[in-house]
Amino acid sequence: MAKFLNSKLFRCLSVFIFLNSTISPLKSSSALAAWELDNNGVLELRTKSNTNLKAYFQKSNQIFGDRFWIDFPGELRNPRTIKGNGPIKEIRLGKPKKGSTRLVIEFKEATDLSPLTWRLIGLNQNRWKIKLFKPKYPFKKISEGVVEKSIRNVKANQKSTYIKKRGHDSLQLPNVKQNKYSVVIDPGHGGPDPGAIGIGGLRETDIVLEVAKIVEKLLSEKGVKVRLTRKNEVDLDLAPRVSFANRIDADIFVSIHANASRGKRRDINGLETFYYRGWRGRLLAKRIQKEILRVSPGSPDRGVKQGRFYVIKNTKMPAVLVEIGFLTGRLDARRLEKTTHRKRIAYAISKGILEYLSKIR
Ligand code: ZN
Repeated sequence: MAKFLNSKLFRCLSVFIFLNSTISPLKSSSALAAWELDNNGVLELRTKSNTNLKAYFQKSNQIFGDRFWIDFPGELRNPRTIKGNGPIKEIRLGKPKKGSTRLVIEFKEATDLSPLTWRLIGLNQNRWKIKLFKPKYPFKKISEGVVEKSIRNVKANQKSTYIKKRGHDSLQLPNVKQNKYSVVIDPGHGGPDPGAIGIGGLRETDIVLEVAKIVEKLLSEKGVKVRLTRKNEVDLDLAPRVSFANRIDADIFVSIHANASRGKRRDINGLETFYYRGWRGRLLAKRIQKEILRVSPGSPDRGVKQGRFYVIKNTKMPAVLVEIGFLTGRLDARRLEKTTHRKRIAYAISKGILEYLSKIR
C-alpha cells in the first residue's frame, strides 16, 4: 500500500535562478541563442543577456528515464527533437507554454547521474555551463549553433514536427494542488475473469491493468494519491472494489474497461464513458471522454451516458466507467494491442481526471 502513497515521484531536486532582470516582453523570441552538450558531458548555453533561467530534474520511473530541463523566457518558433547518443536518448526544444522555451535532455534508462552535485554556472551575462555526466564511452557532442533560424526556414516544418513529437508525459498535464486528492482507479475484471476477448486473443484484463498502472504513475507525478483496486491478475468481486473506495473516502473513482460487441463484429468500434448520476460524475465522464477521443482519431464517439453498473452505482464519490475501445473492432483492436496507444489512452484519462480535479477544487 505504501507504494501507492508515494507522491514524491516528481521531484525538482535542483532549482537555480539567476539574475533578476527579465527580458522585455516586446522581445518575445527565445532567449536561448545556442547550446552544446560537449564530449565531456558539459552542457553550455548562450542566451540573451540578463536572462532568468530555471533548471529542473525529474528522476526516472518505469515509463520514462531521467530528465533534465531548462526553461527560458521567449517563445521558440520551431519545436524539435534531436537524436542523442551515449547516455542521451534525445534532446528536445519546445514551448511548454506561450512565450517560453524549454530545452529537455532525456537520458536513457540505466544512466547513473548525480543531480545533487549539479550546478548551473553563469560564465558571464549570456553564457552558462553545467556538467551533467561523465562519459564512460566516447560521446559525440550534440549542439545547435543557432537556435532560432530565419522565420522562412522554420515555417515549412513547424507544424508537423510539433504535432509528431508532442509526448505524452506528466510534464504537459494540468497541475492540481499537491497531496490534496485521492483517486481510485479500478482496472476491470482480473484473474479467472479476463473480460472481453478480442481480435487475436487480446484480453481486456491485461489491457486495462496496464492502462491503470500508467494512469497511476502519471497522476502520482502530479501529487495525486492513487490507489488501484487490483495490481495484478487476481479474482476480485465488484463489492470489494466499491467498499475499498468508500472506506478510504476517495475523491473520485474511475473504472477502466474495454468493450466487445455481440457477434464480435469487426465494424463496431468506439469509446464511451458512463456515470450513474449527479453533475460531478457527468462532468468527470465528459472530461475523460473528450480526452480519450482526442487520442483515438476515427474511432466513433459513443458518448457520455448514464449507466447502472454496480461499481459506479454503489460508490459514494463521483464515479465513472470508461470503455476505451472495442477489442473486437478492427480499428480499436489494432490500436489497443500497441503499448504506445495504451500510454496515450492512460495519458488521456489522467488529463481528464486532472482537469476535473482542477475545476472542482
Ligand atoms: Zn469490462
